Amino acid sequence: MKPIALAIHGGCGVMAQTGLSQQEWEEARADLASALRAGWVVLSKGGRALDAVQAAVIVLEDSPHFNAGHGAALNAEGEHELDSAIMDGATLAAGSVSAVRRIRNPVKAARALLEDGSLLMLTGPAADRYAEEHGLEIVSPDYFTTQRRTDTLKTMQAHERAGTAASASEAEKHGTVGAVALDSAGHLAAATSTGGYTNKPAGRVGDSPIIGAGTYARDGACAVSGTGQGEFFIRHVVGHEIASRIDYLDESLEHAAGKLIHLDLARYNIGAGLVAVDAKGNIAAPFNTDGMFRGWITPDGDLSVASHREVFFVERLR
Ligand code: ASP
Repeated sequence: MKPIALAIHGGCGVMAQTGLSQQEWEEARADLASALRAGWVVLSKGGRALDAVQAAVIVLEDSPHFNAGHGAALNAEGEHELDSAIMDGATLAAGSVSAVRRIRNPVKAARALLEDGSLLMLTGPAADRYAEEHGLEIVSPDYFTTQRRTDTLKTMQAHERAGTAASASEAEKHGTVGAVALDSAGHLAAATSTGGYTNKPAGRVGDSPIIGAGTYARDGACAVSGTGQGEFFIRHVVGHEIASRIDYLDESLEHAAGKLIHLDLARYNIGAGLVAVDAKGNIAAPFNTDGMFRGWITPDGDLSVASHREVFFVERLR
């Protein structure tokens, strides 16, 4: 049997253990497990990695617990500008949208662009219009807002006025969702979706929709989805760098992904993490913060989720 594998993240901006109620932690972990099952259904029936990562990301975009879609961060003007990308490692086809405000599931708009093939990236109102013209669900911007994000914006703006923004917790700063998969045909895919960081300037675009930076997949090498301050992921072209280290230097996924997070990005003192899967179904999920919402299903079918150091085994699906 050819290996299949799936890994997801819900961002490295995880609260202190005490920052959420027990019920909220359990709900967030349950949503991670649902996202994994949604992707696994596709993979276990012989479906495409591309469809699996999209299915997983949609569940995370619809969950209020993660910074993407419903529950996304607010920018400095109190508005949502969402970024997303998806990439097919088999063909290197990709689609991406940035600063969109009305598409319920930005990853679907990225996928529509991938299928279209003539464009790769659309931004702002033009991307919203494109999604509408392609029959995707359009929502009022307040669909994305949750009380927690409104409170977090107030806290970040208070930090800014007090000159203490750098000391804000990782949870106050950012988050993202993403998925990577290997399918039974040996193809890899990655997808990422985010509200960016809280209190970001209007018009700021992060790494998630930048192919090669926050989202990247190349058959034979790996698929990567990142989380953390996007400017640095773009400067280090993180996804492409990991794939290239595997391809050119024959490094293991674990080593290449760990080098980017724990060495290359470490010098900037930023929160950073990623999930990645290679052509054999190995999974890596390094992060340098107190926690990263994450989960995976190994080729054996073992489904696990985690927020901080402790990993919860949920079930075996094979
Ligand atoms: N990478 C995202 C961005 O820079 C934010 C995050 O993952 O924390 O937009």
